[in-house]
Amino acid sequence: MPSSATDTFLIVGSGLSGILMAWELEKRGVDYEVWNSGAKSGPESNSATKVAAGMFNPVSFKRCVEVWNAREHMNAMRETYQSLEHFLNLQGELFHIAPIMRVFPNSQYRDLWSKRLNDSHPVAGFLSEISDDCPQDVIAPHGFGVVPEAGWVDLPLLMQSFRSNLELRGKFFEKSWDFATQTPPKFSHVIDCRGVGATQDFASIGLKIASDHGEILTIQSPINTHGMCVNRVKWLLPRGNSTFKLGATYTWNVTKSEPTDAGRSELLLALQPIIAPHVFDNFEITDHVSGLRPASTDRRPYAGPVNNLNNTYILNGLGTRGVFVGPTTASHLANFIFDQTPLPAEVRPARFFKEQ
Ligand SMILES: Cc1cc2nc3c(=O)[nH]c(=O)nc-3n(C[C@H](O)[C@H](O)[C@H](O)COP(=O)(O)OP(=O)(O)OC[C@H]3O[C@@H](n4cnc5c(N)ncnc54)[C@H](O)[C@@H]3O)c2cc1C
Repeated sequence: MPSSATDTFLIVGSGLSGILMAWELEKRGVDYEVWNSGAKSGPESNSATKVAAGMFNPVSFKRCVEVWNAREHMNAMRETYQSLEHFLNLQGELFHIAPIMRVFPNSQYRDLWSKRLNDSHPVAGFLSEISDDCPQDVIAPHGFGVVPEAGWVDLPLLMQSFRSNLELRGKFFEKSWDFATQTPPKFSHVIDCRGVGATQDFASIGLKIASDHGEILTIQSPINTHGMCVNRVKWLLPRGNSTFKLGATYTWNVTKSEPTDAGRSELLLALQPIIAPHVFDNFEITDHVSGLRPASTDRRPYAGPVNNLNNTYILNGLGTRGVFVGPTTASHLANFIFDQTPLPAEVRPARFFKEQ
Protein backbone atom coordinates (compact mmCIF):
# COMPACT_ATOMS: atom_id res chain seq x y z
CA MET A 1 0.00 0.00 0.00
CA PRO A 2 1.40 3.46 -0.85
CA SER A 3 2.63 5.35 2.18
CA SER A 4 1.78 8.96 2.85
CA ALA A 5 3.25 11.70 4.99
CA THR A 6 0.53 11.09 7.63
CA ASP A 7 1.90 7.62 8.50
CA THR A 8 4.07 7.02 11.55
CA PHE A 9 7.03 4.72 11.00
CA LEU A 10 8.91 2.65 13.55
CA ILE A 11 12.61 2.23 12.75
CA VAL A 12 14.23 -0.57 14.74
CA GLY A 13 17.98 -0.17 15.28
CA SER A 14 19.95 3.05 15.63
CA GLY A 15 23.10 1.92 13.83
CA LEU A 16 24.09 3.18 10.38
CA SER A 17 21.10 1.55 8.60
CA GLY A 18 18.62 2.99 11.09
CA ILE A 19 20.18 6.44 10.83
CA LEU A 20 20.17 6.42 7.03
CA MET A 21 16.53 5.30 6.97
CA ALA A 22 15.58 7.93 9.56
CA TRP A 23 17.30 10.54 7.40
CA GLU A 24 15.22 9.51 4.37
CA LEU A 25 12.03 9.96 6.42
CA GLU A 26 13.31 13.21 7.90
CA LYS A 27 13.88 14.63 4.39
CA ARG A 28 10.31 13.66 3.41
CA GLY A 29 8.77 15.14 6.57
CA VAL A 30 7.42 11.72 7.62
CA ASP A 31 6.75 11.09 11.31
CA TYR A 32 8.85 8.31 12.89
CA GLU A 33 10.35 6.89 16.08
CA VAL A 34 13.55 4.94 16.51
CA TRP A 35 13.81 2.02 18.94
CA ASN A 36 17.09 0.43 19.90
CA SER A 37 17.48 -2.46 22.30
CA GLY A 38 19.06 -1.68 25.66
CA ALA A 39 20.50 -5.24 25.94
CA LYS A 40 24.06 -5.36 27.33
CA SER A 41 24.90 -8.79 25.86
CA GLY A 42 23.78 -11.12 23.07
CA PRO A 43 23.03 -10.30 19.40
CA GLU A 44 20.77 -7.33 20.25
CA SER A 45 23.70 -5.55 21.91
CA ASN A 46 26.06 -5.76 18.93
CA SER A 47 26.70 -2.46 17.21
CA ALA A 48 28.98 -2.61 14.16
CA THR A 49 28.53 1.13 13.73
CA LYS A 50 29.99 1.91 17.16
CA VAL A 51 33.36 0.31 16.34
CA ALA A 52 33.70 0.73 12.56
CA ALA A 53 36.50 2.84 11.09
CA GLY A 54 33.94 4.30 8.68
CA MET A 55 36.24 4.21 5.66
CA PHE A 56 34.99 4.47 2.08
CA ASN A 57 36.94 3.37 -0.94
CA PRO A 58 35.52 3.04 -4.46
CA VAL A 59 38.24 0.55 -5.48
CA SER A 60 38.47 -3.16 -4.76
CA PHE A 61 42.22 -3.71 -4.46
CA LYS A 62 42.21 -7.47 -4.91
CA ARG A 63 41.66 -7.28 -8.69
CA CYS A 64 42.09 -3.52 -8.98
CA VAL A 65 38.54 -2.85 -10.18
CA GLU A 66 35.87 -0.36 -9.12
CA VAL A 67 33.37 -1.68 -6.58
CA TRP A 68 29.70 -2.32 -7.44
CA ASN A 69 28.02 0.86 -8.77
CA ALA A 70 30.92 2.92 -7.45
CA ARG A 71 30.08 6.27 -9.02
CA GLU A 72 26.40 6.13 -8.00
CA HIS A 73 27.37 5.27 -4.41
CA MET A 74 30.09 7.92 -4.29
CA ASN A 75 27.70 10.71 -5.32
CA ALA A 76 24.91 9.67 -2.94
CA MET A 77 27.35 9.11 -0.10
CA ARG A 78 28.94 12.57 -0.30
CA GLU A 79 25.57 14.27 -0.52
CA THR A 80 24.10 12.29 2.39
CA TYR A 81 26.92 12.66 4.92
CA GLN A 82 27.46 16.31 4.08
CA SER A 83 23.72 16.97 4.59
CA LEU A 84 23.80 15.03 7.86
CA GLU A 85 26.84 17.01 8.93
CA HIS A 86 24.87 20.20 8.34
CA PHE A 87 21.67 18.87 10.00
CA LEU A 88 23.57 17.82 13.12
CA ASN A 89 25.72 20.93 13.25
CA LEU A 90 28.93 18.93 12.86
CA GLN A 91 30.56 20.93 10.05
CA GLY A 92 33.97 19.51 9.22
CA GLU A 93 33.74 16.74 11.83
CA LEU A 94 31.77 13.96 10.15
CA PHE A 95 32.92 13.55 6.55
CA HIS A 96 36.68 13.37 5.92
CA ILE A 97 38.69 12.91 2.73
CA ALA A 98 41.83 10.77 3.26
CA PRO A 99 43.34 9.46 0.01
CA ILE A 100 44.42 5.83 0.14
CA MET A 101 48.02 5.02 -0.68
CA ARG A 102 47.98 1.48 -2.10
CA VAL A 103 51.43 0.00 -1.51
CA PHE A 104 52.11 -2.42 -4.36
CA PRO A 105 52.91 -5.91 -3.06
CA ASN A 106 55.01 -6.83 -6.13
CA SER A 107 55.92 -5.74 -9.66
CA GLN A 108 52.98 -7.68 -11.18
CA TYR A 109 50.54 -5.58 -9.18
CA ARG A 110 52.32 -2.42 -10.30
CA ASP A 111 51.92 -3.60 -13.91
CA LEU A 112 48.21 -4.26 -13.29
CA TRP A 113 47.68 -0.73 -11.94
CA SER A 114 49.52 0.66 -14.94
CA LYS A 115 47.42 -1.45 -17.34
CA ARG A 116 44.18 -0.23 -15.75
CA LEU A 117 45.29 3.37 -16.37
CA ASN A 118 46.53 2.76 -19.92
CA ASP A 119 43.44 0.75 -20.94
CA SER A 120 41.08 3.48 -19.61
CA HIS A 121 39.44 0.74 -17.55
CA PRO A 122 36.32 2.00 -15.65
CA VAL A 123 38.38 1.97 -12.44
CA ALA A 124 40.93 4.36 -13.96
CA GLY A 125 38.78 7.36 -13.00
CA PHE A 126 39.44 6.51 -9.37
CA LEU A 127 43.21 5.89 -9.65
CA SER A 128 46.20 8.22 -9.74
CA GLU A 129 49.47 7.67 -11.61
CA ILE A 130 52.05 5.35 -10.04
CA SER A 131 54.55 7.03 -7.74
CA ASP A 132 57.87 6.10 -6.12
CA ASP A 133 58.01 9.25 -4.07
CA CYS A 134 57.12 7.53 -0.84
CA PRO A 135 56.68 9.20 2.59
CA GLN A 136 59.91 8.33 4.41
CA ASP A 137 58.13 6.39 7.20
CA VAL A 138 56.49 4.03 4.70
CA ILE A 139 58.22 1.14 2.92
CA ALA A 140 57.08 0.59 -0.68
CA PRO A 141 59.87 -0.97 -2.77
CA HIS A 142 57.51 -1.60 -5.71
CA GLY A 143 55.99 1.88 -5.54
CA PHE A 144 52.40 2.84 -4.85
CA GLY A 145 49.26 4.31 -6.39
CA VAL A 146 46.75 6.63 -4.78
CA VAL A 147 42.93 6.60 -4.66
CA PRO A 148 42.23 10.31 -4.11
CA GLU A 149 38.44 10.06 -3.59
CA ALA A 150 38.66 7.89 -0.47
CA GLY A 151 38.12 8.85 3.15
CA TRP A 152 36.14 8.12 6.28
CA VAL A 153 32.99 9.06 8.14
CA ASP A 154 33.09 9.37 11.92
CA LEU A 155 30.42 6.76 12.60
CA PRO A 156 30.53 6.80 16.43
CA LEU A 157 30.09 10.58 16.30
CA LEU A 158 27.22 10.24 13.82
CA MET A 159 25.52 7.66 16.04
CA GLN A 160 25.90 9.65 19.21
CA SER A 161 24.81 12.96 17.64
CA PHE A 162 21.85 11.50 15.79
CA ARG A 163 20.63 9.78 18.94
CA SER A 164 20.95 13.00 21.00
CA ASN A 165 19.01 14.86 18.33
CA LEU A 166 16.24 12.23 18.38
CA GLU A 167 16.13 12.21 22.19
CA LEU A 168 15.69 15.97 22.28
CA ARG A 169 12.69 15.61 19.97
CA GLY A 170 11.20 12.63 21.89
CA LYS A 171 11.81 10.26 18.96
CA PHE A 172 14.24 7.75 20.51
CA PHE A 173 13.32 4.88 22.85
CA GLU A 174 15.35 2.07 24.36
CA LYS A 175 13.10 -0.81 23.35
CA SER A 176 13.37 -4.19 21.73
CA TRP A 177 11.36 -5.45 18.72
CA ASP A 178 11.17 -8.67 16.71
CA PHE A 179 8.99 -10.19 13.96
CA ALA A 180 6.60 -11.63 16.58
CA THR A 181 5.86 -8.10 17.85
CA GLN A 182 4.56 -7.18 14.35
CA THR A 183 3.47 -3.53 13.92
CA PRO A 184 2.85 -1.94 17.34
CA PRO A 185 -0.53 -0.09 17.53
CA LYS A 186 0.78 3.46 17.25
CA PHE A 187 2.64 2.77 13.99
CA SER A 188 1.66 2.26 10.37
CA HIS A 189 4.93 0.66 9.20
CA VAL A 190 8.13 -0.88 10.59
CA ILE A 191 11.61 -0.66 9.07
CA ASP A 192 13.82 -3.34 10.57
CA CYS A 193 17.48 -2.19 10.75
CA ARG A 194 18.74 -4.60 13.41
CA GLY A 195 22.05 -5.71 11.86
CA VAL A 196 23.04 -9.14 13.22
CA GLY A 197 20.27 -8.76 15.84
CA ALA A 198 17.87 -9.86 13.06
CA THR A 199 19.67 -13.16 12.37
CA GLN A 200 17.10 -15.52 13.92
CA ASP A 201 14.04 -13.79 12.46
CA PHE A 202 15.68 -13.64 9.04
CA ALA A 203 16.42 -17.37 9.13
CA SER A 204 12.67 -17.96 9.54
CA ILE A 205 12.05 -16.32 6.13
CA GLY A 206 15.05 -17.81 4.35
CA LEU A 207 17.44 -14.86 4.62
CA LYS A 208 20.94 -15.40 5.92
CA ILE A 209 22.87 -12.73 7.80
CA ALA A 210 26.48 -13.74 8.40
CA SER A 211 28.11 -12.22 11.49
CA ASP A 212 31.55 -11.28 10.22
CA HIS A 213 33.84 -10.54 13.09
CA GLY A 214 36.27 -7.65 12.81
CA GLU A 215 38.89 -6.12 15.12
CA ILE A 216 40.58 -2.71 15.03
CA LEU A 217 43.46 -1.21 17.02
CA THR A 218 43.91 2.46 17.85
CA ILE A 219 47.55 3.47 18.02
CA GLN A 220 49.51 6.58 18.91
CA SER A 221 52.51 7.01 16.66
CA PRO A 222 54.78 9.73 15.26
CA ILE A 223 54.50 8.16 11.79
CA ASN A 224 53.96 10.61 8.93
CA THR A 225 51.89 9.26 6.02
CA HIS A 226 51.29 12.71 4.47
CA GLY A 227 47.64 12.46 5.55
CA MET A 228 47.06 9.30 3.51
CA CYS A 229 45.61 6.00 4.61
CA VAL A 230 48.27 3.34 3.93
CA ASN A 231 46.91 0.09 2.52
CA ARG A 232 48.56 -3.27 1.98
CA VAL A 233 46.83 -6.40 3.31
CA LYS A 234 45.55 -4.23 6.20
CA TRP A 235 45.16 -0.45 6.44
CA LEU A 236 46.48 2.33 8.66
CA LEU A 237 44.15 5.33 8.78
CA PRO A 238 45.35 8.68 10.19
CA ARG A 239 42.78 10.30 12.51
CA GLY A 240 44.74 13.42 13.57
CA ASN A 241 46.86 14.18 16.65
CA SER A 242 49.25 11.25 15.89
CA THR A 243 46.34 8.81 16.28
CA PHE A 244 45.75 6.01 13.77
CA LYS A 245 43.24 3.22 13.31
CA LEU A 246 44.81 -0.07 12.25
CA GLY A 247 42.42 -2.64 10.81
CA ALA A 248 40.71 -4.75 10.19
CA THR A 249 40.57 -8.46 10.76
CA TYR A 250 37.85 -10.47 9.05
CA THR A 251 36.49 -13.79 10.30
CA TRP A 252 33.32 -15.33 8.88
CA ASN A 253 30.41 -16.40 11.03
CA VAL A 254 31.53 -15.61 14.54
CA THR A 255 28.59 -15.25 16.89
CA LYS A 256 30.31 -13.61 19.85
CA SER A 257 32.35 -10.47 19.39
CA GLU A 258 35.42 -9.83 21.51
CA PRO A 259 38.92 -8.47 20.92
CA THR A 260 41.45 -11.33 20.70
CA ASP A 261 45.22 -11.70 21.04
CA ALA A 262 45.22 -13.43 17.64
CA GLY A 263 43.49 -10.44 16.05
CA ARG A 264 45.95 -8.02 17.60
CA SER A 265 48.94 -10.06 16.34
CA GLU A 266 47.45 -10.38 12.86
CA LEU A 267 47.11 -6.60 12.57
CA LEU A 268 50.60 -5.85 13.86
CA LEU A 269 52.20 -8.51 11.66
CA ALA A 270 50.55 -7.03 8.58
CA LEU A 271 51.72 -3.53 9.44
CA GLN A 272 55.37 -4.34 10.13
CA PRO A 273 56.61 -4.83 6.51
CA ILE A 274 55.31 -1.44 5.33
CA ILE A 275 56.40 0.79 8.20
CA ALA A 276 60.00 1.93 8.75
CA PRO A 277 61.52 0.19 11.82
CA HIS A 278 62.26 3.45 13.67
CA VAL A 279 58.54 4.27 13.77
CA PHE A 280 57.23 0.72 14.05
CA ASP A 281 59.22 0.29 17.24
CA ASN A 282 57.74 3.46 18.69
CA PHE A 283 54.03 3.28 18.95
CA GLU A 284 51.55 2.65 21.68
CA ILE A 285 48.28 0.71 21.39
CA THR A 286 45.59 2.77 23.12
CA ASP A 287 42.47 0.79 22.20
CA HIS A 288 41.37 -2.54 20.76
CA VAL A 289 37.74 -3.05 19.71
CA SER A 290 35.68 -5.64 17.86
CA GLY A 291 32.25 -5.99 16.30
CA LEU A 292 30.08 -8.10 14.00
CA ARG A 293 29.43 -6.89 10.46
CA PRO A 294 25.99 -7.89 9.16
CA ALA A 295 26.71 -9.45 5.75
CA SER A 296 24.59 -11.20 3.12
CA THR A 297 25.89 -14.24 1.27
CA ASP A 298 26.11 -12.44 -2.09
CA ARG A 299 27.65 -9.25 -0.61
CA ARG A 300 24.70 -7.07 -1.60
CA PRO A 301 22.51 -5.31 0.97
CA TYR A 302 18.94 -6.31 1.72
CA ALA A 303 16.35 -3.58 1.15
CA GLY A 304 12.65 -4.25 0.69
CA PRO A 305 9.42 -5.63 2.11
CA VAL A 306 9.24 -8.75 4.27
CA ASN A 307 7.04 -11.54 2.93
CA ASN A 308 3.99 -12.27 5.10
CA LEU A 309 4.56 -9.34 7.45
CA ASN A 310 2.35 -6.45 6.49
CA ASN A 311 3.96 -3.03 6.19
CA THR A 312 7.34 -4.28 7.39
CA TYR A 313 10.56 -3.55 5.50
CA ILE A 314 14.19 -4.36 6.07
CA LEU A 315 17.47 -2.58 5.51
CA ASN A 316 20.36 -4.84 6.42
CA GLY A 317 23.40 -6.69 5.08
CA LEU A 318 25.52 -3.55 4.71
CA GLY A 319 28.61 -5.72 5.27
CA THR A 320 32.11 -4.27 5.01
CA ARG A 321 31.10 -1.22 2.96
CA GLY A 322 28.14 0.17 4.89
CA VAL A 323 29.35 3.75 4.64
CA PHE A 324 29.66 3.58 0.85
CA VAL A 325 26.59 1.55 -0.16
CA GLY A 326 24.23 2.50 2.68
CA PRO A 327 23.01 5.93 1.47
CA THR A 328 21.99 4.73 -2.02
CA THR A 329 20.33 1.63 -0.63
CA ALA A 330 18.34 3.56 1.98
CA SER A 331 17.26 5.98 -0.73
CA HIS A 332 16.10 3.10 -2.98
CA LEU A 333 14.04 1.69 -0.12
CA ALA A 334 12.43 5.06 0.62
CA ASN A 335 11.62 5.60 -3.07
CA PHE A 336 10.01 2.16 -3.10
CA ILE A 337 7.92 2.81 0.02
CA PHE A 338 6.78 6.32 -0.85
CA ASP A 339 6.84 6.49 -4.65
CA GLN A 340 6.44 2.81 -5.59
CA THR A 341 9.70 3.00 -7.56
CA PRO A 342 10.79 -0.60 -8.18
CA LEU A 343 13.77 -1.71 -6.12
CA PRO A 344 16.91 -2.78 -8.00
CA ALA A 345 16.81 -6.59 -8.25
CA GLU A 346 20.26 -6.83 -6.65
CA VAL A 347 19.04 -5.55 -3.26
CA ARG A 348 15.57 -7.09 -3.04
CA PRO A 349 15.36 -9.60 -0.19
CA ALA A 350 13.00 -11.60 -2.44
CA ARG A 351 16.10 -12.89 -4.26
CA PHE A 352 16.52 -15.29 -1.34
CA PHE A 353 12.99 -15.97 -0.13
CA LYS A 354 12.28 -19.66 0.31
CA GLU A 355 9.42 -19.92 -2.19
CA GLN A 356 11.41 -18.27 -5.02
C1 LIG B 1 35.62 -3.87 13.02
C2 LIG B 1 34.73 -3.30 11.97
C3 LIG B 1 35.23 -2.38 11.07
C4 LIG B 1 34.41 -1.83 10.10
N1 LIG B 1 34.92 -0.88 9.27
C5 LIG B 1 34.14 -0.35 8.30
C6 LIG B 1 34.65 0.65 7.45
O1 LIG B 1 35.79 1.12 7.58
N2 LIG B 1 33.82 1.14 6.48
C7 LIG B 1 32.53 0.69 6.30
O2 LIG B 1 31.85 1.15 5.41
N3 LIG B 1 32.04 -0.26 7.11
C8 LIG B 1 32.80 -0.79 8.10
N4 LIG B 1 32.29 -1.75 8.92
C9 LIG B 1 30.94 -2.23 8.65
C10 LIG B 1 29.86 -1.27 9.20
O3 LIG B 1 30.10 -1.11 10.54
C11 LIG B 1 28.47 -1.85 8.94
O4 LIG B 1 28.23 -2.00 7.56
C12 LIG B 1 27.36 -0.95 9.50
O5 LIG B 1 27.75 -0.29 10.65
C13 LIG B 1 26.12 -1.80 9.79
O6 LIG B 1 25.15 -0.95 10.38
P1 LIG B 1 23.77 -1.56 10.87
O7 LIG B 1 22.97 -0.41 11.35
O8 LIG B 1 23.16 -2.40 9.81
O9 LIG B 1 24.14 -2.54 12.07
P2 LIG B 1 24.60 -2.15 13.57
O10 LIG B 1 25.50 -1.01 13.58
O11 LIG B 1 25.07 -3.41 14.19
O12 LIG B 1 23.24 -1.66 14.25
C14 LIG B 1 22.19 -2.52 14.59
C15 LIG B 1 21.47 -1.91 15.77
O13 LIG B 1 20.28 -2.66 16.03
C16 LIG B 1 20.13 -2.83 17.44
N5 LIG B 1 19.30 -4.04 17.66
C17 LIG B 1 19.65 -5.33 17.40
N6 LIG B 1 18.62 -6.15 17.70
C18 LIG B 1 17.62 -5.38 18.17
C19 LIG B 1 16.29 -5.64 18.63
N7 LIG B 1 15.81 -6.89 18.68
N8 LIG B 1 15.50 -4.60 19.02
C20 LIG B 1 15.98 -3.31 18.96
N9 LIG B 1 17.23 -3.00 18.55
C21 LIG B 1 18.04 -4.02 18.13
C22 LIG B 1 21.56 -2.98 17.95
O14 LIG B 1 21.65 -2.67 19.33
C23 LIG B 1 22.31 -1.99 17.06
O15 LIG B 1 22.38 -0.71 17.64
C24 LIG B 1 33.07 -2.27 9.96
C25 LIG B 1 32.55 -3.17 10.87
C26 LIG B 1 33.37 -3.69 11.88
C27 LIG B 1 32.79 -4.67 12.86
